[in-house]
Amino acid sequence: MPTESDEALAIFRNSLSAFLNKTAPPKTIERWNQNKQVDRDAWLAAGEFGMLGVLVPEEHGGLGVDFRYERAIMEAFAERGLEGWGVPVHNMIAAPYLIEHGTPDQKTQWLPKVVSGDAILAIAMTEPGAGSDLQGMRTRAVRDGDEWVINGSKVFISNGQMANLVLLCAKTEMEDGPDKISIFLVEGDRAGFTRGKNLDKVGRDAQDTSELFFEDVRLPLGNVLSGVPGKGFAQLMALLPQERLGIAVMGLGMLERALTLTVEYTKERQAFGQSLLDFQNTAFSLADIKTEVTIGRAFLDHCTNLLLQGELDAATASMAKLWITEREVDGINRCVQFFGGYGWMNEYPIAQLYKDSRIDTIHGGTSEIMRLLIARSL
Ligand SMILES: Cc1cc2nc3c(=O)[nH]c(=O)nc-3n(C[C@H](O)[C@H](O)[C@H](O)COP(=O)(O)OP(=O)(O)OC[C@H]3O[C@@H](n4cnc5c(N)ncnc54)[C@H](O)[C@@H]3O)c2cc1C
Repeated sequence: MPTESDEALAIFRNSLSAFLNKTAPPKTIERWNQNKQVDRDAWLAAGEFGMLGVLVPEEHGGLGVDFRYERAIMEAFAERGLEGWGVPVHNMIAAPYLIEHGTPDQKTQWLPKVVSGDAILAIAMTEPGAGSDLQGMRTRAVRDGDEWVINGSKVFISNGQMANLVLLCAKTEMEDGPDKISIFLVEGDRAGFTRGKNLDKVGRDAQDTSELFFEDVRLPLGNVLSGVPGKGFAQLMALLPQERLGIAVMGLGMLERALTLTVEYTKERQAFGQSLLDFQNTAFSLADIKTEVTIGRAFLDHCTNLLLQGELDAATASMAKLWITEREVDGINRCVQFFGGYGWMNEYPIAQLYKDSRIDTIHGGTSEIMRLLIARSL
């Protein structure tokens, strides 16, 4: 029996679909891809519509809903080739740090802007010399009277060009022992903070993935997340499972879209007097992908339920990301094959999917790091 909340979610999905059809039609997505950035007006329109910060509690202007709504957004993005728009990073990856760990002042100051789109969020962990090994980060915060002084640099930061607030991870000088990671709130116009290149990537063209530089950035003590330094690693560990589940959701959505496109194409395309889908090789391969998509969706439902109950652990979220994104990259690669030369033409959405999907086994923790986390639970 559908519940009242299922009905509300279905209504959200429908209105979201109408909103995206209007705000992000294929021509607009193409322009964003060419500009390597999504228009700020689209972010603001998304805020007005109610697509930003949906997890933010109602008292701070959000919908106060759960991860199923984020899933609906990511699935809608995957359905229409919108995987370059950094809304999931803003909504599902960065905003929860403020929601879960922000002080009352930090929440009051930032969450309404997260919801309206006036403050686009980024989270900056990765550095040129430290990606998988986060503890190796060298960006450092040193206390100077009533301020923190931060020096260092970050790389591959999603929403890096557009962010109005960066959640910056830095090793922090502690009074009572070795340095520990803290997360700092760095406003986009803070003196000493500069943005480097909007990086030239293989796919997800509309995503403004960037280098960020911090040179003697002075922050008030109140700009450390939760108000207490040294808690960053625990805060990251608590929220990374949700990020990984989100990447799996988007990945599965992209694989499903590739399957739909490939079934359509192979039904139409003729060779040797029959459709490509009538070759057993094609049908068996697509049957395998359909099986993987179906199993993947069931596991995502399971993980979503665990997350809603506060029980999604690092190993289980890693299984979702590992298994689904590996199936995604492999499955989309096989789909390209069925398009023949057309699969290599940029005007075919399958080619864009081929490029956009490849990052999924790398960002948010590589497949090898996922295996490491799963292995720890053996
Ligand atoms: C498009 C894009 C968007 C991104 N967005 C963000 C963002 O918004 N914020 C952010 O902080 N970061 C972001 N990242 C960074 C991303 O999370 C890292 O690239 C990723 O975690 C891998 O780190 P690395 O690139 O330094 O690779 P490395 O850590 O150098 O890894 C290189 C290889 O070594 C393997 N390896 C490393 N350690 C081990 C081990 N212990 N055992 C076995 N193999 C190992 C890895 O699996 C990988 O295959 C983004 C990256 C990209 C490309």
